[in-house]
Amino acid sequence: MTHGITRANSCTLHTHNNPKSGLVAIIAIHNTTLGPALGGCRCISYPDTLAATADVTRLAKGMSYKAALAGIQQGGGKSVLMRPAKIKDRHAYFEEFGEFVESLGGSYITSVDSGTNTADMDDIAHTTSYVCGTSYDGCTPSVYTAMGVLAGIQAAVRQQMHRWDMAGVHVVIQGVGNVGSSLAIALEKLGAKLSLSDINSNTLNACMERLKAPGAVNIIHPDDVAAEPCDVYSPCGLGDVINQHSLKNLACKVIAGSANNQLSTDADGLLLHQKGILYAPDYVINAGGLIDVSLISEGKSEQQVETKTKEIGTTLKEIFERSKVEDKPCHAIADQMAESILYH
Ligand code: NAD
Repeated sequence: MTHGITRANSCTLHTHNNPKSGLVAIIAIHNTTLGPALGGCRCISYPDTLAATADVTRLAKGMSYKAALAGIQQGGGKSVLMRPAKIKDRHAYFEEFGEFVESLGGSYITSVDSGTNTADMDDIAHTTSYVCGTSYDGCTPSVYTAMGVLAGIQAAVRQQMHRWDMAGVHVVIQGVGNVGSSLAIALEKLGAKLSLSDINSNTLNACMERLKAPGAVNIIHPDDVAAEPCDVYSPCGLGDVINQHSLKNLACKVIAGSANNQLSTDADGLLLHQKGILYAPDYVINAGGLIDVSLISEGKSEQQVETKTKEIGTTLKEIFERSKVEDKPCHAIADQMAESILYH
């Protein structure tokens, strides 16, 4: 087993590699100006360590910026587990990861992200107290992430379409896992027209079963999502979906979803702005889960979490208005606002 500490992309990287158990983990800590670094644990397959490092450092930076704009006293960090072809013993795998988190003495607090779930957080909690999102700590980050995304979609629809209700507004949700499915249910209640897509047919079916009128939903093949004509395109799967290829085909008025790192490059954000597509910056709109785990661990109530989560809509309104007045892309305005808090 090997451990290491290094620096990359403005982050401190802590690495853990155990060929016996298959646990290859990287924890990235970006900025702790506002508090200890808090960020989810992603467990997906990566082609190599370079790709995993690029992912974890970008995500950790996003967490610093997210906390700053959400008004949360936390720093930015994230962890990735390079998922092996088969995890021999999932309980032991996450307990070992918990020991690694514990070894950092609280400078990093972990939680749920793509490829991990509440049961994994319970296993992590066997070996560290620096974890949120277990089955018993009262945190339900995905629910609040979806609530924040809904508030963001409503703010964007007001700004771009001058609409104060969602009835008949066509929303395409790409990825209906933890966040996308809660979002679909909330949008259905508001009378939105839904188109859904997921690369996993079981996940898609599970989401359809939770809807009141699944027959009214349009199912889209994963390859056709970006080109689907709609009012709101809501990426709730993985990142890098706004890229040179998808930009040629986009047929939406608004992009507003939970996925982290939606823009492949900053230039893609500029192109969206030039095309007149309103983009809700990812780390602003998807802050609900962070707000939940941070406030609940401080002993705040669910009502306080809900109030703070809905403020995401107000922050986005300010970003949209400044983007219009200053004629700058929304992601650049959000970066400026976050940096003025982190590096003032
Ligand atoms: P999840 O793994 O439960 O769901 C993601 C779903 O997207 C999966 O069902 C997957 O099959 C699907 N998917 C992936 N790529 C796709 C594609 N190209 N087309 C269609 N479907 C695709 O994850 P989640 O917890 O719902 O999170 C979704 C996104 O939101 C992730 O990027 C995550 O980092 C981000 N996020 C989540 C939270 C949270 O609280 N869960 C908070 C902030 C950000």
